[in-house]
Amino acid sequence: MTPRLSVEFGIAGRKLIAQEEFKAGTALTHFRGDIIKKVDIQENERCYALMIGPDAWLVPDNESRWINHSCDANAWIEADTLAVVAGRVLRIGDEVTIDYASVAAEDFAKEPEAYAWDPAWSFDCLCGASLCRGRIDGYVIHGSVRDWNVGPAIEVAAYAGRGRGIRARRAIALGECIERSHVIVIPKEQWANIEHTVFYDHTFYWGEEGEDAALALGFGSLFNHSYKPNAVYDRRFAGDEIHFFALLDIAAGEEITVNYNGAPDDDQPLWFTPLA
Ligand SMILES: [Zn+2]
Repeated sequence: MTPRLSVEFGIAGRKLIAQEEFKAGTALTHFRGDIIKKVDIQENERCYALMIGPDAWLVPDNESRWINHSCDANAWIEADTLAVVAGRVLRIGDEVTIDYASVAAEDFAKEPEAYAWDPAWSFDCLCGASLCRGRIDGYVIHGSVRDWNVGPAIEVAAYAGRGRGIRARRAIALGECIERSHVIVIPKEQWANIEHTVFYDHTFYWGEEGEDAALALGFGSLFNHSYKPNAVYDRRFAGDEIHFFALLDIAAGEEITVNYNGAPDDDQPLWFTPLA
C-alpha cells in the first residue's frame, strides 16, 4: 500500500481514504487479484468481485477491495490497466468511490450483452449523494470513460430577467472540467448570413486567428457572462470542442459563469450588452 491512501473503518465497513490531494486524472491504485469465472466466486466475496470481461471476474486482494460505491463517484476504473483514476480533485480525507453500476457508452456499445444485470448484485445504495439512484439494479450508461462525471455536475436553470444559465448540481472543485461541448463551426464565408440572426449573441470566435465562428452544443451556449467568472473556457480547435473548467471551488446551487472575452480578467466591453 502506498502511503497516499489509507483504509479506515466506517459505519458501512471499510473504506479507502485519500491522504493527500490528488488532481483529476491521477492513478490512485490498481485493482489486483485473482481473475476467476462467475461460478467460482465465493458467496462472501461476491460483493467485492468486479466484472472485467466476458465471464472474467476479479476478486481484489489489495486496497482496491475497500473502495465503496457512490452514485456520484469521484474515481473510475481504466479498462485496460484496471487503474483507479481520480475523476475530479480529491482532498485529504475524501473517501475514494467508484460507480460500480455504470458503463461508458463506448464499452457498452462493444458488448451490450455483457452488461445484462445479474440481480444477485443489486443493492440499496446508501451513498448519500444528491444524485443517488436508490436501488442499484442495473447499469447506467454514461458519455465517455473520462467524462462520466461531467453530465451530472451542471444543469440548466432559469435566472430572473436573464433567461437561462448554468447552475452547479453539486460541489465542483477548482480545476475540474465541468463541460465538454462540441461545436458547429461557422466558416467565415457564411458569417454574413449569421451575424444578423439570434445566433450572433451565442457564437464563439473560432480558429487560431478568430477568423471563423462557432456555435456550442450541449451546455456550452448557456453559460452567462461575468467579469468575475468562476469558470473559464478553452477552445480546442482540433477537435471542434470547447471545454469549461472551474476557476474556483463552486458550491452546489451556484451559477457558473464565464467571461465572454475569454480571459477571466479581461474587462473590455462585450460585443453586445448583456442583460443585467
Ligand atoms: Zn447511491
